[in-house]
Amino acid sequence: MSDPFFHPVSGFDLPRFAGVPTFMRLPYVPHGHERYGDVQIGLIGVPWDSGTTNRPGPRHGPRQLRDASTMMRAQHPVNGTRPYEAANCADLGDVGPNPADIIDSMDRITAFYDQVLAAGIKPLTAGGDHLTSLPVLRSLAKVHGPMGMVHFDSHTDLFHSYFGGTMYTHGTPFRRAVEEGLLDPKRVVQIGLRGTMYDTEDRDFAAANGIRLILIEEFHARGVEDVMAEAREIAGSGKTYVSYDIDFVDPTFAPGTGTPEVGGPNSYQALQVCRELAGLDIVGADMVEVSPPFDTSGGTAFLGVSIMFEILCVMAAQAGA
Ligand code: MN
Ligand code: MN
Repeated sequence: MSDPFFHPVSGFDLPRFAGVPTFMRLPYVPHGHERYGDVQIGLIGVPWDSGTTNRPGPRHGPRQLRDASTMMRAQHPVNGTRPYEAANCADLGDVGPNPADIIDSMDRITAFYDQVLAAGIKPLTAGGDHLTSLPVLRSLAKVHGPMGMVHFDSHTDLFHSYFGGTMYTHGTPFRRAVEEGLLDPKRVVQIGLRGTMYDTEDRDFAAANGIRLILIEEFHARGVEDVMAEAREIAGSGKTYVSYDIDFVDPTFAPGTGTPEVGGPNSYQALQVCRELAGLDIVGADMVEVSPPFDTSGGTAFLGVSIMFEILCVMAAQAGA
């Protein structure tokens, strides 16, 4: 049973539209807070989209996700998990990026996560564009070595470079992560890939390095349970990262993102894949690419935090086990 200090504010006690919005209405426990060392799972905002190559906006994601997360309650509707009783969860605040300098921003993000990991906290990140994952993985790999990864996305994000040699964009983070030895490519699976292509460079890199790509045609043909059983097998029993790009979900359900691709999973399947992560040794996870300027209804952010809650339930059950 977790410490009541770490329980979120209930809608029974304070209406959801009242109060300062933290992730899931959890306590705000930044580095230096006296309870920082007692946190087991830390929700972190990375308001940064300097890696975006087309339509920007995820720098506004964490604030919108925090606001939408005031809608979330304390218990999982299907399996009954009560994550805030299974583990001490808190909002650790935002990493302050340098929006005019990508390299400096990545160093700031890695330094922030180094503090998180030094305190034994497992990070659940709200981005930010998908380049956010790279500096997070740099920190995690210092502690855990090369990790497996279950990656939900329309895109592989495995390209070599953009614009004639720019190495750090939201289309390149996992190419860099493999090159830097942060990921074990043979324990990486990418699920939901679709959309028109530049060429096959990214898929060729995956094939050459043993990364398993599950294209959307296969996802729809096999169904969530079968695909996720294979994903668990690929990631295996070792340390695993979960990266969730909201553009994995069909733009009917998640239009508020910079690079939408049609023909994707629905919002129920978007949650279901997370439930099927149970059993993995998850050392960190992220929800990226929610872009509030394109999220005119706010529904994409609500789906984003609903997915974060699903992942949090798996991480908390694992922490409490
Ligand atoms: Mn992505
Ligand atoms: Mn994507």
